[in-house]
Amino acid sequence: MAESVNVIGAGLVGCLAAIALAKRDFEVTLFDYRQDPRLETTKDRNLRSINLAISARGITSLEFVDEQISQRVLKNMIPMRGRMIHDLAGNQESQDYGLFGECINSIDRSVLNNNLLDEVDRFSNIHVKFGHKLSRVDFSREKQTCVFTTDAKEQKSYDADFVVGCDGAYSTTRSQMQREVRMDYSQEYIDCCYIELYIPPAETQDATFGSFVMSPNHLHIWPRHNFMLIALANGDGSFTSTFFGPWSLVESLDSRTKIEEFLKCNFSDALDVMGHKNAVDAFERNPRGALMCVECKPYHVDQGRAIILGDAAHSMVPFYGQGMNCGFEDVKVLMRLLDAHPQDRAAVFAEYSLNRHEDLVSIIKLAKDNYKEMSHGVTSRLYLIRKKLDTL
Ligand code: FAD
Repeated sequence: MAESVNVIGAGLVGCLAAIALAKRDFEVTLFDYRQDPRLETTKDRNLRSINLAISARGITSLEFVDEQISQRVLKNMIPMRGRMIHDLAGNQESQDYGLFGECINSIDRSVLNNNLLDEVDRFSNIHVKFGHKLSRVDFSREKQTCVFTTDAKEQKSYDADFVVGCDGAYSTTRSQMQREVRMDYSQEYIDCCYIELYIPPAETQDATFGSFVMSPNHLHIWPRHNFMLIALANGDGSFTSTFFGPWSLVESLDSRTKIEEFLKCNFSDALDVMGHKNAVDAFERNPRGALMCVECKPYHVDQGRAIILGDAAHSMVPFYGQGMNCGFEDVKVLMRLLDAHPQDRAAVFAEYSLNRHEDLVSIIKLAKDNYKEMSHGVTSRLYLIRKKLDTL
């Protein structure tokens, strides 16, 4: 009989993990506390267009799991061949990522998640349970019992041979594992807040960029040393823009006048394409997000009983654009080990924890360091000289 697995979290990483495990003939049950985000009736469906940068790390991991699925779920991504730096005067300078056209790509988070859920639905050995919030895991030698609170406030238990926790930065799987395992764990908030803003499509077709008001094939950055604005293109001609800055700065902008003055002073060309009123409205009303890093070790419970992947194991700040990419890579690394030792899940999980940790710690550090690079380094004279020399 096929072994069973409970995958907790039907976000980006949980969906990919469920598909990869189903392809290896496990009987998978995929849980999420949200309702199905594809249904119009779902209240917490994310209607704002939040986009992510997907890089070779994420794409090759999707391809490893399934090339056709990868092609289908990534079909609307927009290549970004470099950064576009906007200075205070509104001048733009393109800085290519590589000499040979190397790109990262902009993709809509909810479209990608919904596409992955559509792929999940194609597998008869994946059973999806929305509206199930994990509250407890009882680990035993034989079966792992996951206890959920449903939307109807009922308690429901589901047994499985093992558990894969992909339930994000505030993972309940992780906190339950900490009762069973001597897990090193650290959580750090960085002094940076983010606010999503929006740049609408061009009102008339732009001669150079079509329905976009600026190049869609760049990651736009307005670096201002200890704060910055970025923007990534969406398929409909709009851009999702994100402001990053210290909490004290954001909290000091406590009136519409102060917000407008601040935006005019620092991002006047961005304000023109956002529309002054829309930008101030969004800055004032949109949620203010906190940024957190999580590190832990090991990532598993012995005897192959549980493992955590994605943000549950390594939440990082978004400045390197690698959180999801790294989560997808977790799935690839784990599946490679499972393929090499299909009969020994205990050894696979132990080896995963041992070998994956160094890479994850490094990327969390790179992500933190890249804030300085994006907000400040890209404007330094030395950096620009170095870049010029590179292209000679
Ligand atoms: P999540 O996306 O958090 O999904 C977790 C899922 O688990 C959710 O569906 C949730 O509903 C469910 N869940 C949680 N708790 C429970 C529970 N108790 N029971 C049942 N279900 C539960 N990464 C990139 O690679 N590129 C980028 O450009 C990028 N930009 C970013 C920009 C910002 C502003 C931020 C904040 C992050 C960015 N990231 C980026 C990081 C990326 O968003 C995350 O790394 C990625 O979403 C992690 O996926 P995940 O599936 O591990 O977790």
